[in-house]
Formats: sequence, C-alpha cells, structure tokens
Amino acid sequence: MLHRGRDWKTAASSSTRDPAGRGDSGKKTPIVVPIACLNPYQTTWTIRARVTKKNNICPWSNSRQKGKLFYFDIVDESGEIRVTAFDKEVDKFFPLLETGKVYYISQFKVKDAYKKYISLNNSYEMILRSETSIVPCEDDQDLPMVECDFIPIAQLEHMEKDDIIDVIGVCRSVDDLSRFTSKTGREEYRRDIHLMDTSGKAVAVTQWGEQAEKFDGSVQPIVAVKRARLSDFGGQSVSAIFSSASMVNPDIPEAHRLRRWYDQGGHALDCQSLTELRPAGGGANTCWKTLSDVKTEQLGQGDKVDYFSCVATVLLSGKESCLYQACLSADCKKKVIEQPNGLYHCEKCDKQFPNYKYCVMLSANIADFSDNQWVTCFHETAEGILGHNAETLGQLKDTDEAAFDEVFRKVNFTTHIFRNRVKLEMYNDESRVKAMVMEVKPVDHREYSRRLISNIRKMAA
Ligand SMILES: [Zn+2]
Repeated sequence: MLHRGRDWKTAASSSTRDPAGRGDSGKKTPIVVPIACLNPYQTTWTIRARVTKKNNICPWSNSRQKGKLFYFDIVDESGEIRVTAFDKEVDKFFPLLETGKVYYISQFKVKDAYKKYISLNNSYEMILRSETSIVPCEDDQDLPMVECDFIPIAQLEHMEKDDIIDVIGVCRSVDDLSRFTSKTGREEYRRDIHLMDTSGKAVAVTQWGEQAEKFDGSVQPIVAVKRARLSDFGGQSVSAIFSSASMVNPDIPEAHRLRRWYDQGGHALDCQSLTELRPAGGGANTCWKTLSDVKTEQLGQGDKVDYFSCVATVLLSGKESCLYQACLSADCKKKVIEQPNGLYHCEKCDKQFPNYKYCVMLSANIADFSDNQWVTCFHETAEGILGHNAETLGQLKDTDEAAFDEVFRKVNFTTHIFRNRVKLEMYNDESRVKAMVMEVKPVDHREYSRRLISNIRKMAA
C-alpha cells in the first residue's frame, strides 16, 4: 500500500545529507537511505526519520535472563518502522529521543518484524546496538508527521469488529464531554466526534482522556486517527484505542485534500452515518432554541409537551409572591391554609400542622437577543437562580426586608442555561402556553461559543 508509484532509489540518491554537519571534518558523508529500502543484509546505512511514538520503558524476561526495553516508531517520506532498544541502549537513548523530533540513526540492526505485535506497515523492525548512533536533526521540514494508510469511511461497513484501522475525516459535529469512572477507579473523560469523508458517510469516533477533554470541534477540523479499533457499537463506530495517535489538522496531503473538498461543497452534502446516534444524555440531543423559535415553531401548542433549552438573561423576577407557606411533610410542597385555630392545613396530606416551611415559586421574565418569555421556576431551579435556599429567603423576608430586596436586584441581568417544558394550559377559559423551568445551569462560555461558531458555519453553508 505504501509508496505507490514512487521511485525510492531516486529518493535515496537525492536525499543525501550530512548528519550533524560533519561534512567538513574530512569524514566520508554517509548516505541517508529511505526506511523503505532497509533490509537485514546491509548494516552500514543512516536513516533520517521522525519519531511518531515513543513507548514507556518496560521489563522483559525469558527463562534465562531479564532486563528492560522500550520501543519507538519512526517515519520518513518512504515509510515507517518500529525500533526497539534493550538494556544499556535504553539508558543511553531513552532520555535523548522525543516524540515529533527528527534524528539521524545509523549502525543498527534490521530484522524481520514480529507482525503479531507490530501493526506498522513494514515487514522489518530495527534493533539498536551498542554501536548505534542517534543524532538530532534540526532540519525536519520535508518529513511527514505520521505515515497512515487511511480507509475510506464507507468501507468500514465491510470490515470486522476489532480491526485496527487508520481513519481520516472532517469533524462535522461533536457530542458533549462525558465523565465516567474507570475500572481502576480513576475519573476519565470520553467524547464522541463525528467524522465524514468524501464518500459521504460518517462515523462516530470516541476520543478518550485529555484528547476528549480538550477537543474543539467548532471549526470543523480534519481529524486523523491512526491505529484505531473498529467496534460495532451502535452499528459501526471507531474507538481511539490506547496506542492510537489522534491528530487534528495534520499537515498531510489527505488532510489538505479533504479540507478543500469540504470547503468547496462537501459541507452541503447530507451525510449518512454508520453510527446510530446515541440515545439520551448526550449534548447532541439537547434541543437548543432561541425564544423567538419557540413562538414561530409553536412549541407546546399541540397536544403534547415540548422541551427546549436556551441561553437567556433574567430581566425581571417576581419578588412579591415568590415565597409561599408550604406543608411540613418531608416530600410535600403543597401550599397550606391557615386555620382559625392557628394551625396550618394541607389539603394533599389532609393534616394540620402547628407551623409551615417556606417554598419558592419564582416567576421570571427571561430574554435572549430574539424575544422574551415568562417562565415559572419551582423549588431547586428557583433557589438556583436566586442563589439562596427557601429557608434563608424566608428568614430574610421576615427579618431583613432590605437584604431580601437585594437578592432580587442581584438576580436581574444574570444569564443562565434554562431547560424548559412548554405546554398549553387552560386559564379562565383561555388557553395559553405555560413555560416551566426544569433545570438551570451556568453558561459554559467555551461550549456556548463553540455552538455559536458551529451555527455560523451551518448558516454560511
Ligand atoms: Zn402536605
């Protein structure tokens, strides 16, 4: 698959270089050969390659002895190869090598690769020897970052679960970050991103850890994932497994080609996903609306209830009837009625109590750039907006009117994410849409900006 139609003999002679600038020392300049030309029968060459992955040091043992080893993968214009160092060479070279940097490497051994353990596209691997020399190379402009063998997304349908593949695509959309506890008890992050390529097909790719946490899909970047594992979750999806290298906007021809294709019309294509959308929970399912959408789309006006989320600012909040006297039973929030005997009666529990507790029911007018809307917030959502619990508010109301007023003054012009339920209700023989706030959350400005940018892109398309 690699190096189609390229003549690496030409490449070998034209890429003759002078490692570490020792040309004028009278020493014979070694010839730099491409990785694709390496074989076990010659030993005197020098290669110039970029480290694409460096593994940690780990122990090895057999029946007679034990030691330590580490391996790293390198790439040049012609191909890629796995390099392993043992024991003394670990001490010598492990601190020197850095992922992403380019080195001249000479005096190494080439042998048949253990294909079972190495997923690279090369039938040989390299072993470092005590004579091996590794010299950093500053001029790395012409070397590719990582060698990949991308499979078109449409072809994934015909592949097997657990196949290891390289995939590249435009990130059309991103799910919310989700947090979970791993088997080892550590907090981990995961996030699904949806990649599409020129085949018009899309697939969900799961990113893990820091990659998931920091991923920014708002500008619809090109994402390449090397050595990802195919799973059959929700039809077909791809998981970036432990050893995968995931690259955002990599400087490789496939990425530039995809970018051009997408910007010049591909974005308008209705893509078909191999992965079913994840049910519930995910941000992909959040129904974001502006307040004018709610009216023009007549949400809540039919027989059923509608839910939507919006980012909006509190313009007014009704202080007057915001606290009410409620039943003392633990799970009851029913308004109680004071009896002539001085006790408080709850209709729901059909009991009388010597006292009551305060509950909040806040009526607020919220607005975004498009419109405004009266909403009702009960209990926790109201407490969330006001920043105090019902008990504290009740105390303030009874003892410190000025402080109570201040709470409401402070609420005005605060902005939150509101998740609302809208429903047609009859009121004095008149039907009107009532909006009730189900959840109030602070605005995550990063996430919000990403969504806005993504919307702008969609409008531009
Ligand atoms: Zn009650």
